[in-house]
Amino acid sequence: MRWKRTEYTGWGRAVHASAEIARPERLSSLRAVLSESPAPAIGQLRSYGDAALNDDGKVIDMTRLDRIIGFDAESGVVEVEAGAMIGDLGRIFAARGWIPPVMPGTGFATVGGCIANDVHGKNHHVVGSFGQHVTEITLFQGDKTRKVTPDRTADLFKATVGGLGQTGVIASAKISLMPCKGDMMVLTERRVDGWDEFLAALENSRADYNVGWIDATAKGSNLGRGILEEGEITSGVSPTIGRAREVPFNAPHWALSAPVVRMFNEAYYRRVPVGGRTTVKPISAPFFPLDAIHNWNRLYGKRGFHQFQCVVPVAEVQTLRQMLELVANSGLASPLAVLKRMGGGRAGYMSFPMDGLTLAVDFPNRSAARVLIGNLERMTEDAGGRVYLAKDALMAPERIEAMYPEHALWLKAVRKADPDGAMTTDLVRRLKLRAPS
Ligand SMILES: Cc1cc2nc3c(=O)[nH]c(=O)nc-3n(C[C@H](O)[C@H](O)[C@H](O)COP(=O)(O)OP(=O)(O)OC[C@H]3O[C@@H](n4cnc5c(N)ncnc54)[C@H](O)[C@@H]3O)c2cc1C
Repeated sequence: MRWKRTEYTGWGRAVHASAEIARPERLSSLRAVLSESPAPAIGQLRSYGDAALNDDGKVIDMTRLDRIIGFDAESGVVEVEAGAMIGDLGRIFAARGWIPPVMPGTGFATVGGCIANDVHGKNHHVVGSFGQHVTEITLFQGDKTRKVTPDRTADLFKATVGGLGQTGVIASAKISLMPCKGDMMVLTERRVDGWDEFLAALENSRADYNVGWIDATAKGSNLGRGILEEGEITSGVSPTIGRAREVPFNAPHWALSAPVVRMFNEAYYRRVPVGGRTTVKPISAPFFPLDAIHNWNRLYGKRGFHQFQCVVPVAEVQTLRQMLELVANSGLASPLAVLKRMGGGRAGYMSFPMDGLTLAVDFPNRSAARVLIGNLERMTEDAGGRVYLAKDALMAPERIEAMYPEHALWLKAVRKADPDGAMTTDLVRRLKLRAPS
């Protein structure tokens, strides 16, 4: 297998690595390369920070391993190689009446990446997390192959799902798809005037899919205003979608300056009429709104950006309001800010979801933003919440035990699965996840 030295980054482009990368095309070559030289896997690098980085080391790029191995039309269980993209599974199966129960906000995420971060979708309050629908994982550990299931090998399963790739390389997985009417969605959007209204609207929403866009620049009586999107899958087959647009170069630093973001947010808020609106769209539009613009991460310029995402228990919702006030007053927010009610569903020791509310905000990679994110992390910990490691590049290791109380169980299983630490990544080193405790 050829290894090629490559410079690469997480999706936020704020942290970098240089690694030797191998791109096996067959499961047999994956097995051969891992027997010789065990190394962590990477998918489509849609994690924002350093989860998939291994500076000065080796990584296995899984993206060529994207075949569908089998599908049982009775049970809806599909077996796929781990490099398959979740959006492709949605496209292929929804028109035939089946859909991956959980899809994150980008269709580019691979099945391996979805398992390793136990991702959540806009229907988390209904169906839980990705790992709850995985019935079997084929894990390559050096020259060994393990079949991992939620019941027969529960400990290894819980350490692998949401386990940041530390138990071995996920070669393939069986996922239980959910019946669906078609690949169109009835989408209702309505303006929400402020924070309290938003909380009530999310709590009262009965839609299968919902998410709130927040104007993170709005202050005072407008604080927390935004748009609530609610969706239901409906029958019909989507027309062929036009080509995605592309951001061709790094934007200049003023492209997302405070006045530009304020103007953009005002227009975005007002694009939905006062009385709301209902449209029917191909599912990819509401599921993966940002995928329509390739390389949109270049909008933040060369220095890149950070996304802060936390979840806090419902009882601590006041903390979330204080966070939003801090963000609005900082003048540092970008147009992307999302609020969502989560259910309790999670499948791994280190899974992010928690019964509560999640807030995600993008910030340009500037020192003032890094200080602000540090404060938001502290507030999250004090509120008994946690930061999403798939988005993180900045957090300090001291916060892990409080935010991830099952870390010790994860660590025990990981030490057994990968005793030599061959799967270690930059995030794992930064957060000292595998350090002796
Ligand atoms: C626009 C956008 C929207 C998003 N929306 C959401 C959302 O709504 N909900 C959500 O939960 N997440 C969301 N994410 C985050 C994204 O879903 C996760 O970061 C996901 O893990 C990315 O998958 P990937 O294939 O790019 O994995 P990578 O980023 O390449 O890798 C992520 C982790 O998975 C491990 N890994 C990857 N493949 C394997 C494998 N085969 N075996 C073992 N380990 C592996 C890597 O080592 C790394 O630790 C979003 C990201 C973007 C860019």
